Amino acid sequence: MSAPITVQKYGGTSVGTSERLQNVARRIAARAAGGDRVIAVVSAMGKTTDSLVALAREITPNPAGREYDMLLASGEIVSAALLAMALDALGVPAIGLTGAQAGVFTDDTHNRARITRIETDRIMTAMDAGQVVIIAGFQGISPHSDFTTLGRGGSDTSAVALAAAVHAQRAEIYTDVDGVYTTDPRIEPNARKLHDIAYEEMLELASQGAGVMHPRAVEIGLLYDLPILVASSFKEDLPGTLIRKQVQMEPSNRVRGIALDRDVALITIRAVPDRPGIAAQVFGPLADAGINVDTIVQNASAARLTDLTFSVAHDQAAAAHDLCRQVAADLGAGAVILDEHAAKVSIVGTGMQSGVGYAAKMFRALAGASVNIELISTSEIRITAIVHEDDGRKAVQVLHAAFELDEPVTATS
Ligand code: ASP
Ligand code: MG
Repeated sequence: MSAPITVQKYGGTSVGTSERLQNVARRIAARAAGGDRVIAVVSAMGKTTDSLVALAREITPNPAGREYDMLLASGEIVSAALLAMALDALGVPAIGLTGAQAGVFTDDTHNRARITRIETDRIMTAMDAGQVVIIAGFQGISPHSDFTTLGRGGSDTSAVALAAAVHAQRAEIYTDVDGVYTTDPRIEPNARKLHDIAYEEMLELASQGAGVMHPRAVEIGLLYDLPILVASSFKEDLPGTLIRKQVQMEPSNRVRGIALDRDVALITIRAVPDRPGIAAQVFGPLADAGINVDTIVQNASAARLTDLTFSVAHDQAAAAHDLCRQVAADLGAGAVILDEHAAKVSIVGTGMQSGVGYAAKMFRALAGASVNIELISTSEIRITAIVHEDDGRKAVQVLHAAFELDEPVTATS
């Protein structure tokens, strides 16, 4: 039997300077010395990707997707090369690979490509030859042999996909936070670190603005039932959080976490004629324009006219607003209103499926703090309230207390 494969990912802060890279190299060396075959996926150093984005903007507001990806992919390649050198310097044989060299194939949607398959031959051959394999995250190769990138924050996705492809036991994500908390500790100082959390819960939290993990990475974990450890790259002895399959229901059904998303704009189309096909006429053009529509609420119609409200991210708000004004004119609808000062507060927990009263408790707590709810949306394990952005922080704090998230729970394992 061959030695177990460890797949680790180190984020931008963890490889932000040459000293930090050397520190990561020492950690990897220790793991390799323990007998594991190690694959390390790396992000670009520090704020490198932001600087590359800014450089592109200095040249043109509309860079071609292909060239933009070629530029952004360079950041991770620098990290991979330097980390391989750092390992070599420690006497640990290592090889740095680009996403393409590592066999990460994607579709050709530049800037937000999806991984289509991973051919692991080269990785396996290198590991068989006793090399630690360092792979540039966030990137792959298109069917036309061009660089692609997976969307900002995408190296988490690279790591989990690679871990699944080589049949590792789990993916280890090392980052500047030491785990997943009940909510962002910068918002609520009483937030607690979770010992573990179910894939579905993490997916909802990540999709609703909890910045710890890229939602697509969690999706792959869920799909392949591949546990993901989130832990600190600086404090080695601190236990992290394990994202994994729900093994048993909590002793008491509880809310597991609260997410706050401040990147929310609301668009309302007033007095839309209420007849079949209207929603398709509104949301079709938005989808065609690549605008990602989130929460949608259609109010009960009065006199066969209805108000339609939905949320989008800030960077798509202006485009969505323009499009909706055209569509509203075509449909004979009323005014289109843009509100850029919204925030989304979500409570998440698989226990909500079987419990009752979560919504009532949430709304009561918000009302008690005089937080006005503008829109509500739910999934089986999530309730989201859209509120004014000035109320977002307060809403999180009030809900954290109302659902007793500052109190320890028995771990599920
Ligand atoms: N360097 C890329 C970014 O900043 C990918 C990543 O760090 O995950 O978005
Ligand atoms: Mg990142």
